[in-house]
Amino acid sequence: MKKLFGLSCLLFIFAFYSASSFGQWFESTQGIMGTNIHVELWSDSAAMGEAATEAVMDEMRRIDSLMSPYKPSSELSKLNAEASLGPVVVSEELYDLISLAIELSQETQGAFDITFASVGFLYDYRENQKPEQENIDELLPAIDFRHIKLSEATHSIFFAHKNVKIDLGGIAKGHAVDNSIHILQQMGIKYALVTAGGDTRLLGNRLDKPWMVGIRDPRNKNKQAVVLPLADIALSTSGDYERYFEEDGKRYHHILSPKTGKSAFEVQSVSIIGPSSTLNDGLSTAVFVLGVQKGMDLLNRTPGYDGIILDNARKLHYSNALIE
Ligand code: ADP
Ligand code: MG
Repeated sequence: MKKLFGLSCLLFIFAFYSASSFGQWFESTQGIMGTNIHVELWSDSAAMGEAATEAVMDEMRRIDSLMSPYKPSSELSKLNAEASLGPVVVSEELYDLISLAIELSQETQGAFDITFASVGFLYDYRENQKPEQENIDELLPAIDFRHIKLSEATHSIFFAHKNVKIDLGGIAKGHAVDNSIHILQQMGIKYALVTAGGDTRLLGNRLDKPWMVGIRDPRNKNKQAVVLPLADIALSTSGDYERYFEEDGKRYHHILSPKTGKSAFEVQSVSIIGPSSTLNDGLSTAVFVLGVQKGMDLLNRTPGYDGIILDNARKLHYSNALIE
């Protein structure tokens, strides 16, 4: 009886506390950019909480209509259609993101390369379609970020090879998540989580607790390989399970080695933790291509960015700062 009384007292105090704190969690999940967008945020007012959640979804839709390779009307599709004919003037946002992607190519010995799409567009993972070796051989010379010529003066972009196509799928979701967090900050939100597919960024903590962010087991979607308590940071995961099909016991998935035009095979998933979701996104794709040794070397010389790799033998590897 005594025990029961204690419990009801606790419940009463809890109810009183939440009622007096005038805030609540708002949550929304929508399918945008070919993936799940998930937002959780804390707000003192219902109107603000709903407006802030919707502002994130609007930002995701805006970036999708600008950068989707599947929408013929997107700025990216227009660039792909015209830039090998002559310089194309683009928006500051697209120009800056492509410039950053090229910097990432330089830092990763070409493992991250948005011109992967010159061959990549021949894969259709939903339809179990992959290119023949002779098609890969023909288009492989077009994969090289050095073909992308930027003109800072005119904000224009030119492809110096007729078969170049670019795709920002390895970095655009991270960019969308960073933008969303900035929008929430401007609206006065202090505690939030924004996820676009494998890219998550956290604003503050979960009130008095850390956010618990999971890294999925690449071979079991109901299981977490690792769960990390995090706050005020971002985490991106690239895995060979997001978009793939299997044929003759081989897995064909959406992260391609720019050297071969085929799926990178050394690891199953890579997670990067760092302040910028855009850089985490790009680095997780790059480290996936580089594999354990070269990927860890890159992370260990990149201040502020750490990583966890799950290799092909399902062994976990941590960058130095995570185990020190
Ligand atoms: P997702 O969150 O969709 O799993 P990732 O960050 O893992 O995204 O990146 C995978 C996407 O990156 C692919 O769908 C493709 O659009 C793009 N991509 C694939 N290979 C490369 C590469 N070598 N360099 C840059 N981008 C790539
Ligand atoms: Mg990525």
